[in-house]
Amino acid sequence: MARQRAGAIHLKSPAEIEAIAQGGCIIAALMDEIEPLVVPGVTTEALDRFVDEYVRSHDGAVPAFKGLYGFPGSACISVNAEVVHGIPAKRRLRGGDIVSIDVGVRREGWCADSAFTFPVGEIGAEAAHIMDVTRDALRLAVAATVPGNHVGDIGAAVVERVRGTGLAIIPDLVGHGVGREIHEEPQVSNVGRRGRGVPLQPGMVLAIEPMLAAGTDQIVTLADRWTVSTADGRLSAHFEHTVAVTADGPAVLTGGGIWDRSDERDGHDPAVTGPLSTTIRHP
Ligand code: MG
Ligand code: MG
Repeated sequence: MARQRAGAIHLKSPAEIEAIAQGGCIIAALMDEIEPLVVPGVTTEALDRFVDEYVRSHDGAVPAFKGLYGFPGSACISVNAEVVHGIPAKRRLRGGDIVSIDVGVRREGWCADSAFTFPVGEIGAEAAHIMDVTRDALRLAVAATVPGNHVGDIGAAVVERVRGTGLAIIPDLVGHGVGREIHEEPQVSNVGRRGRGVPLQPGMVLAIEPMLAAGTDQIVTLADRWTVSTADGRLSAHFEHTVAVTADGPAVLTGGGIWDRSDERDGHDPAVTGPLSTTIRHP
């Protein structure tokens, strides 16, 4: 989502990062569970119902987007040219579609936010290309999320990955800080420049979310006042993780498997252990 609130950047303690990771793990597991349900013939409403029930089946967890700014769904489900904020509906997915499922979880007062674009049945070459590049741009953007870098280095990694692919970065939609609120400062542009923007420091938690288009980088909001689509109707893809900046590198809090229970038992800080920068999922 792109709307921002002005304000300060809130740094999180290791315990607070762990609390965000608890919600993040629910989303990570949800993405694994929902993947086999994304098939020709399923309605986006049915997928939304699955998200709602899955999230609420975890103690204290609620879908963070439900009612956020008045959004009616529990997930944002955006098909093909739709970039973000698609409203779940009775329409059925068709083979060859690509569909972005964007989920926020709020648990014990902390939020996590993640999105994946899934293929529906067999997809064409252009759809596979935009999915591959967007996912890889996220991987590289996460790798740039380290102390000493600036927020502009995140978007610069996206720019550098997209260059020469024939795809466009949608400049009007940005990532954001995550914490007590689903959308916090700072904005995380996908068209960043190296060394620009606020310095990254341990305790920052950011939703990093490249959104790419196959044609124009311009977007329009549809008549439902929510769904954001590419202006030319060509394909779009969107991958997102909630990532903590730590002294040991980026911690992908929605990646799943960021720590194992033995680390917790041994008294290590689970937020900063595990294969942090290598936990990007590949659906
Ligand atoms: Mg987000
Ligand atoms: Mg999201």
